[in-house]
Amino acid sequence: MTTTPAIVILGAGALDTARRIQLLYAASQVHALRGRVEADVAYTDLSTHLRELYASGTPIVALCAAGIVIRCLAPLLANKGVEPPVLAVAEDGSAVVPLLGGLAGVNVMAREMAAALGVSPAITTSGELRFGTCVLNPPEGYALADIGQGKRFVSDLLSGESTRVEGQAPWLDDAQLPRSASARLAIRVTPRAWNGREDELVIHPRSVVAAVTDTDDGATIAAHVQAALDRHGLATLSLAALLASSGRMADAALAQAAASLNVPLRFAQTVAEDGAPPAGLLHAALRIPYETLHDDAHAGVALALTPLAVDADTIGRARGRLTVIGLGPGSAELMVPAARKALTDATDILGYETYVKMAGPLRADQRVHGTDNREELQRARHAFELASTGRSVVMVSSGDPGVFAMAAAVLEALEDAQDPAWAAVELVIVPGVSAAMATAAQAGAPLGHDFCMLSLSDNLKPWTIIEKRLRHAAEADLVMAFYNPISRARPWQLDKALDIVREFRAPTTQVVLGRDIGRPGGTLRTVTLGELRSADVDMRTMVIVGSSTTRKFVNGAPWVYTPRWYG
Ligand code: SAH
Repeated sequence: MTTTPAIVILGAGALDTARRIQLLYAASQVHALRGRVEADVAYTDLSTHLRELYASGTPIVALCAAGIVIRCLAPLLANKGVEPPVLAVAEDGSAVVPLLGGLAGVNVMAREMAAALGVSPAITTSGELRFGTCVLNPPEGYALADIGQGKRFVSDLLSGESTRVEGQAPWLDDAQLPRSASARLAIRVTPRAWNGREDELVIHPRSVVAAVTDTDDGATIAAHVQAALDRHGLATLSLAALLASSGRMADAALAQAAASLNVPLRFAQTVAEDGAPPAGLLHAALRIPYETLHDDAHAGVALALTPLAVDADTIGRARGRLTVIGLGPGSAELMVPAARKALTDATDILGYETYVKMAGPLRADQRVHGTDNREELQRARHAFELASTGRSVVMVSSGDPGVFAMAAAVLEALEDAQDPAWAAVELVIVPGVSAAMATAAQAGAPLGHDFCMLSLSDNLKPWTIIEKRLRHAAEADLVMAFYNPISRARPWQLDKALDIVREFRAPTTQVVLGRDIGRPGGTLRTVTLGELRSADVDMRTMVIVGSSTTRKFVNGAPWVYTPRWYG
């Protein structure tokens, strides 16, 4: 479930408050009703939009009447599944009302927002009001053993009973809990599995690290770890991380095992490298006191039990990650969700400054390596250097990263790499909506039949090659999408290219010009090849030259398309 809320507004009056709330949640976006107000994401129907967000588990902050939100979501509430936080906030920021998602931290969000807006949150949860904290929502690093039991326990407390606290629960220090050393009820903070006692609220600190040297498949490794936990009477929820030798970073079985145990995978650098026993891995990676629990039945697993919850980020190091993404043409709506997720997960963001700005808003803890450096290979190497130290790096391009953009440079850097640490980096390339696709969609479907994409820039290839390809493409009657059509440093090339195309195509050929498509002030024009002048085009323009079958008709707006058939 995502923790980044969607901030939903209906009109311009709510935009200021929405932007203030947005500052609290990195990578959050303001969703605005199309035609009424512009923000980061546009939607057309409030009800449908809220339901989609809710169904996908996205926290919702709706700047409108609580009643509207309730009516929109009501049909989904009978079905008790995962319940993301849902809040209604007054347009002017004067009221913050948590509505749903008590166990997903809605009251925590309400307090954060109310503090930022300078008002009191309208918290109505009795346990939380009485005790000043949600006992059933322990902080990061701790997990409730059983929610059903938790609810019974809190209602016992509310009916007047007191409780003991056993184990370390620093977050309860400030809570106004009715405490008594002789109480029947107990809040027990322990890595040991809950034995089903109804008078205990069991909370597990994530305080166990499992080191594995197993080379089985993912499911078997996970089963061995689970068996070791069981043999020592430890709860699965106490597991903080899976630890393996850094020589095995690219091992898919380990990643699978960690995913099925639902814990992060960390790596230890040992002198013996792959030869180290599991206890040796613990020794190399843990910087805090712990007790080693060997698994006598299976030598490939050792458990470390630490006194308090342990932050997985401090154990050994992570496998570095490099994700190459495309932002799409410009608007947030046309960025694919996988790219948005990569940005949210990133520790470091690299790319041409304009694109890094477009990728925002970013969190204060995310490092930006904005650069005007046009040397792509250099930038790609920099990305690998960062990622090979265990960071999560995102390289941004516009459009699609594989179309005249960074993905190819990244692969070239990797193929040439001398450093084995680069090979261990988890490399993912996320596709994006390329300028030709975005322009074509606005115009209709000019790429509906065979087409090609050409860059008219002769910075990285000789002009003679460009001329040859233009000639062949024009002769083959392919629709052509021109990227980098013209620039101050390349003033004459477009005219030369059009001269070549005109040798093969009629002056009536349809041409689409998309400028800044998906960005503020974007324009779309359709002209004929005969009318087209290079002065109509700049470096922010996509030029789509139709084939002999590309046609245009007017239905309200002009539509340009290339039929699927040929005749
Ligand atoms: N990777 C990008 C292309 C980078 S090359 C992609 O897939 O879209 C840069 C060229 O792309 C520009 O010179 C222009 O021709 C085109 N372009 C990029 N974004 C555009 C936009 N929003 N509108 C129109 N053309 C765009």
